[in-house]
Amino acid sequence: MSQDGNGDPVLPAGDSDWDSTRSARLYGIDDWGAGYFNVSERGEVQVTTEVDGQPVSVSLMDIVQGMHARDLHMPAILRIRNLLDHRIKVLNETFARAIEQGGYQNCYRGVFPIKVNQQCHVIEEIAEYGRRYSHGFEAGSKAELIIGLSQLQDLNGLIICNGYKDAEFIELGLYARQMGVSCFFVLETASELATIIEHSRALNVEPLIGVRIKNTVAVDGYWSQDSGDRSIFGLSTAALMAIVDELREAGLLHCLQLLHCHLGSQIPNIRNVRNGVLEACRFYAGLVQEGAAMGYLDLGGGLAVDYEGTRTNSTHSMNYQLEEYCVNIVESIRETLDPLDIAHPVIVTESGRATVAYSSMLLFNILNVGHNGPSAAPEQPPPDSSDTLHNLYAVRAGMTLKNLQECYNDALFYRDELRELFHHGGATLRERAMAEDVFREIMQRLSCMLPQLDRVPQELQALPEELSDVYYGNFSLFQSLPDIWAIDQLFPIMPIHRLAQKPERAAILADLTCDCDGKIDRFSMPDGNCSTLPLHSLVPGEDYYLGVFLVGAYQETLGDLHNLFGDTNVVNVAIQADGSFDFACEFQGDSIADVLSYVEYEPKQLQEKFRLAAEQAVRNGKISLADRQKILQAFRESLHGYTYFEKH
Ligand SMILES: *Cc1c(COP(=O)(O)O)cnc(C)c1O
Repeated sequence: MSQDGNGDPVLPAGDSDWDSTRSARLYGIDDWGAGYFNVSERGEVQVTTEVDGQPVSVSLMDIVQGMHARDLHMPAILRIRNLLDHRIKVLNETFARAIEQGGYQNCYRGVFPIKVNQQCHVIEEIAEYGRRYSHGFEAGSKAELIIGLSQLQDLNGLIICNGYKDAEFIELGLYARQMGVSCFFVLETASELATIIEHSRALNVEPLIGVRIKNTVAVDGYWSQDSGDRSIFGLSTAALMAIVDELREAGLLHCLQLLHCHLGSQIPNIRNVRNGVLEACRFYAGLVQEGAAMGYLDLGGGLAVDYEGTRTNSTHSMNYQLEEYCVNIVESIRETLDPLDIAHPVIVTESGRATVAYSSMLLFNILNVGHNGPSAAPEQPPPDSSDTLHNLYAVRAGMTLKNLQECYNDALFYRDELRELFHHGGATLRERAMAEDVFREIMQRLSCMLPQLDRVPQELQALPEELSDVYYGNFSLFQSLPDIWAIDQLFPIMPIHRLAQKPERAAILADLTCDCDGKIDRFSMPDGNCSTLPLHSLVPGEDYYLGVFLVGAYQETLGDLHNLFGDTNVVNVAIQADGSFDFACEFQGDSIADVLSYVEYEPKQLQEKFRLAAEQAVRNGKISLADRQKILQAFRESLHGYTYFEKH
């Protein structure tokens, strides 16, 4: 039985042997944390990063305290700048090592796809830190091109333009060419070429041209439809040939220098990567044989993140390490091109997810727990109650391991029978309440006995989940974790403190939106995906904080204003060599006035309308003038407050 007085045992509790290493194992943090996250002896999640070649660890709770002291409350996105730097470093250095060890005769040039995280401070950091590696940007729209061009700090860095390009887009790219930027137009359709040729003639600038092919390699994972014949992106082979002919006719075949392919995001299986590269190399060789200048092979994104920490080829994992990825690419290119005597191209990848996922996490506090609580039913049914209620009590009294399924069926039957009675006026509201309470108690006991069975009957398998607690978190799934809702993404989630104690509850998470989709009920645990998350009981008067990790990719800008919960507070922290940390940037999240103006309300007007209503109430004698002032003040303060739950 659990010791929190609720009487509803969920996991065996009161384990005095528990310590933080067991929590670490329970949540698999050493598997998905990639060495960046671990549990300290104190039982807190800490982030570890390299500063001046030395590992430095900081407790997330210390950062949370620093945030509160600066009036930056939960929920908040915490970005650790050092982790972003480290990802760029390992990506570039691992490729450099693979290139050197493989005797590859060219270099690696990474580009960051801006769509994966467009936030200014993320992009600025990538530009600044990436400069030493000539790390560039990939832009999929005019707005992203503008970001890329203005942020790029090193002319050796590439700007790769994908997506549809109108005349304005093309002109901007050509001006960048004039300024010496290696700005590539990647053709995804044949129709853009005419505009490019026309404008480059008018401006007298030679364009750098790439072609995006369709890989026919089938890819595992969620985005498998991005690749293969059914991909909506990329040129058919016939369209590719038409482009080559058109360029040749225009005397611009030497401008065709890059082959682009993107197998899809989060490729969990290294075999797919290898096959994709091999196929791309055949296309590359074919274009060289056609007389195109070439020189760059852009393999797109796809480098995965092991959200589960299982190192498997399951959708949210990956069965390879970065080093294997780099070596496979380098080797595959050599194997294909060396026999054909084709010079090694510059290797380009557009790794987004693997670059930014680690550096951001969402932190939030728990507001409340909806216990699937203890039974308040009396020990015995009142003597004058219906037979149905007596029968239900009898089921409870007669439960053994041998008759679980029967007890389940009977309990269900009598509960429904009592509801039916109530429906026709044959049972009182109190009797119905008693019946439902006893029923729940039976289910809870059943659920506790399940682990002792050799085989759990199908019908009973969902019981533990149905009986789990609901922990209400101060966040919006739709704003901060849209991929959980949209594509069933799994992110590691765990408490960031109290980990020296055993988490004795089994919970699902609900957010602040009153939407039934605003919940998290799939968690990746080391022994398989699980429908509940182990959590600690709340301690009255104490905050309880959870972290959702590896959320730096795709989450920040896909989020929406469901129920008008706006952007969260954001802090960027830089960890120093002595273990201290700076709040390098802090941003207040949206106020209520901000989100209202996004949906075309004018906050001043709202205030004025409310003032008129208050004035009317004064005239009608409903409130005093002093009340009016107080009420208007409260309205104004709300308007400028945070959209999330605030403690006053
Ligand atoms: C989305 C996208 C990427 C980024 O993919 P990741 O898997 O996040 O690295 C790269 N290139 C293109 C063309 C994309 O559409």
